[in-house]
Amino acid sequence: MMKNKVCCVCGKVELSKDEIGLTKKLISKNSCNFYCISCLAEYLDVTEEELRDKIEEFKEEGCALFK
Ligand SMILES: [Zn+2]
Repeated sequence: MMKNKVCCVCGKVELSKDEIGLTKKLISKNSCNFYCISCLAEYLDVTEEELRDKIEEFKEEGCALFK
């Protein structure tokens, strides 16, 4: 069943691949709750800037979730 990827905190729709990949990578591969980058930052108690750096790192590692 296809579910819309919606931020489970603020309800933002059309999350980017990066936001979805980051949720899977940092929370759980099987998570059915997704977070937009600002809610994820708050949830993890980091800054959005740090998350964007993480995304770049994962991309450089060639992580499949970010392709
Ligand atoms: Zn959100």
